[in-house]
Amino acid sequence: MPELPEITIIARQMNRELKGKRIAHIEVKQPKNLNMPIQEFLKIAKGKIVDNVSSKGKWMFIKLEPAYFMLIHLGMNGEILYFTANQKLPEKYQFKLTFSDKTGFTIHFWWFGYIHLIQEKDLNKHKLTAQLGISPTHENFTLEHFKKLLANKKARIKNFLLNQKNIAGIGNVYAQDILFKAKLHPNRKISTLTEKEITNLYNAIRNILNHSIQLGGDAYDKNFYGRKGKLTLNEFLVGYKTGKPCPTCKTPIIKIKTGSTSSYICPKCQTLK
Ligand SMILES: [Zn+2]
Repeated sequence: MPELPEITIIARQMNRELKGKRIAHIEVKQPKNLNMPIQEFLKIAKGKIVDNVSSKGKWMFIKLEPAYFMLIHLGMNGEILYFTANQKLPEKYQFKLTFSDKTGFTIHFWWFGYIHLIQEKDLNKHKLTAQLGISPTHENFTLEHFKKLLANKKARIKNFLLNQKNIAGIGNVYAQDILFKAKLHPNRKISTLTEKEITNLYNAIRNILNHSIQLGGDAYDKNFYGRKGKLTLNEFLVGYKTGKPCPTCKTPIIKIKTGSTSSYICPKCQTLK
């Protein structure tokens, strides 16, 4: 499933390819992905020019001139793929956007996703993105900021990390190795974390996500050019590695239930104090 590293990479590639292009044609096969009737959507989008593309958490923000944003979320999983003129299109897609130079992109949602058009002035009223927390790769995500986010929180640490209102972009894939690297049990209560553990956790978040971005994202999701990243299962520390030895102490990794998610931990390195 694409999480922050994969979406960050796609948004960077989109920004590079799409900047300055004018929307010529849009094909919508699944209108329920839109936030308005198709005809209205097409009328607004057509003729608009891409100013830039960015991302926050798992959302992609295509800034359109004049004065609109196209917001895209791939849902549980999906592919957004670039195409050039005369290139063969993917067999399955629900959405196709073509620019005046005949390049464009298709979107294939495996389950469900969103393609929303929002006026620039209403961006902070868009419920699904307005409440997103800070992106952990953003320069404002400092240790001091992280400490403030954790202050007076009563949640368990994994639930806190997965809640997109706290920090946007960490899902169940990367949370595993982040917690392992910080030597924290997923069920640790935030109120029990020491200063040192918070610092370790902060560094782990940055390291794990940046490492994945450097490798081009995980090896199970395609980027904008249809290529997969280099972060394979082998690269994971404990995530999805039940029975394999802990990279630190060789104790077999176990899979446990933590609330509504599964967690992979080293029972010796990540104890519940
Ligand atoms: Zn261990």
